[in-house]
Amino acid sequence: MKTMWAPWRMEYILADKEDVCVFCDGLLKNDDLTLYKGNDTMVMMNKFPYINGHLLVAPVQHLSALDQLGKRQMGELLATVERSVDILKKVMSPDGFNVGLNLGKVAGAGVEEHLHFHIVPRWFGDTNALTVFADVRVIPEHIKATYENLKPHFETLNLNLKA
Ligand SMILES: [Zn+2]
Repeated sequence: MKTMWAPWRMEYILADKEDVCVFCDGLLKNDDLTLYKGNDTMVMMNKFPYINGHLLVAPVQHLSALDQLGKRQMGELLATVERSVDILKKVMSPDGFNVGLNLGKVAGAGVEEHLHFHIVPRWFGDTNALTVFADVRVIPEHIKATYENLKPHFETLNLNLKA
């Protein structure tokens, strides 16, 4: 495997791991990572992405386990994942996606106390093939530029699921 310079990963490795939850913090602040704040769910850019366009979809409530979610919240969470995939398709035209949950530190969860789905867009021939679980990745577009491209689509996102 080639070694590539990924400064954002180094920043993550060297950063003081704060006690504050990034998701709860994103809900309180107007930061440049949070794309969507709904009644039950939220969407953030991953500050330390595996690849450009790597999104995190979380319940608004600070919960760590799937069985703590109610049926409606579960539905909203999956609907938000689906809509986020849709927006990424529209804006970034990926060829596919890795979508998943890392439950527990042993599974690679960086923030294990607040449940979140990872959405990782994939392109044919992207340099990240088989490295989703490794540490070195290439990100061709700066994260802030991606945020600007995605934000308008999440601003019009309306998830009024009626049970
Ligand atoms: Zn939280």
